[in-house]
Amino acid sequence: MNRLLKLLQDGRFHSGQELGDALGISRSAVWKHLQRLQGETSLLLYKVPGRGYRLAEPLSLLNSEELAPQLMRLGWTLHLFDAIDSTNAEALRLLQQERTPFLVMAEAQTSGRGRRGRRWVSPFGQNLYCSLAFKVHGGARQLSGMSLAVGLAVMHALRLAGVPQVGLKWPNDVYVDGRKIAGILLELTGDPADVCHVVVGIGINVNMIDAEGIDQRWTSMKEHIGMVDRNALVVTLASALKRYLEQHANLGFSSLKDEWEASHIWQGQKCTLSTGAHDFSGVVVGVDHQGGLRLMIEGDERVFNGGELSLRLDR
Ligand code: ATP
Repeated sequence: MNRLLKLLQDGRFHSGQELGDALGISRSAVWKHLQRLQGETSLLLYKVPGRGYRLAEPLSLLNSEELAPQLMRLGWTLHLFDAIDSTNAEALRLLQQERTPFLVMAEAQTSGRGRRGRRWVSPFGQNLYCSLAFKVHGGARQLSGMSLAVGLAVMHALRLAGVPQVGLKWPNDVYVDGRKIAGILLELTGDPADVCHVVVGIGINVNMIDAEGIDQRWTSMKEHIGMVDRNALVVTLASALKRYLEQHANLGFSSLKDEWEASHIWQGQKCTLSTGAHDFSGVVVGVDHQGGLRLMIEGDERVFNGGELSLRLDR
């Protein structure tokens, strides 16, 4: 990561002289670097005569020297970028040349993606954007309910970090107090009937306090527990992911079903499920052993499965 930004991440004032001395460059070179940095990251920087420069908000930058050894203990290699189009897209590209499992992370995504081509807002240095790529043996049976298991892992990590009232929304969004705090996007390559690779993409709003372009209610960890050390959060998230994915691989989603239902924010409530072409209104009964949504519609129970479905609470 940019050395200048590292010096500024504490959010305190640093004089041009001090920054220049630390980097072995002149004060005017510091100014030029700062202007470029501001352009590249959209971070807000204050310049006060006689005091120097400071970031409008302190940052917790990702540190690969700290993270790589911790992730290696889980058997994962780390690819950390300042900015990338999308960590899922990069993971899919890296699958051509890298051994799995590996984790792709970035400080910013320029084309962060959600389901159905929707956008995931991904400003620099505020949140977590990460994609875990790994091989799956045993075909589609091994995949059912996997995205729900990932939701449980994210929820668990947020709870461990101290965020209150975290819950899940079928199939794989994470909510706090009715607002979205994290999203999950699973993508597959290879033969779903045999050996394939899965990329598990996770976006968590961590220290973001304002953002443009999110067309639904959202929140971040900072709103609930104050500024978060993002490196510590990565380690907590990685071990939760490892644990839930292993349980899912060894015992299947059915072993996680009760825990998932206990965390579903709309369990027993009247909701509408949209398939794109049709809307189905009913009461949420729960999930089945494959992670499909069980809806009671006019006295008949129906199960819905698939990545393109969207659930909304009836008001
Ligand atoms: P839903 O389940 O609500 O139908 P979805 O699962 O299709 O939506 P995702 O693909 O998970 O949604 O995420 C994309 C949507 O999330 C965007 O359309 C936007 O409304 C919202 N969004 C985008 N960026 C963020 C963010 N950083 N935090 C919270 N929500 C976001």
